[in-house]
Amino acid sequence: MTDHEKLCKEFCKLTGRCWHEWDGVKTPDFHEIKCTCGYSEVTFLLNKHINENNPTYENPADVLRVIIKDLGFVTTQEFFSLNRESKEMIDVDMILEKDALLKAAVKWLKEEKK
Ligand SMILES: [Zn+2]
Repeated sequence: MTDHEKLCKEFCKLTGRCWHEWDGVKTPDFHEIKCTCGYSEVTFLLNKHINENNPTYENPADVLRVIIKDLGFVTTQEFFSLNRESKEMIDVDMILEKDALLKAAVKWLKEEKK
């Protein structure tokens, strides 16, 4: 698992989303394996299921969408005020640097859950 995938997995976990991966259990005949979501399939099709269903969050807008639109308890101001003095603008580096917003969101969510 890459560092980016680890971040995505952590973001999913912190936001109550399913991160699809093999749950480590094989059926007795080793014919099928199970995903953490409960879906079970033969190995190569489970990998397809995992690749198609896990979010990549490579577009910062997808991270923002989760934080601002999907998580009702977080306002834009609450999140941004931890990342920058202005409460109405987002630091452009958060958009241009790969994973910067995702990292900030994971850090913020961990603090929020303490
Ligand atoms: Zn799944």
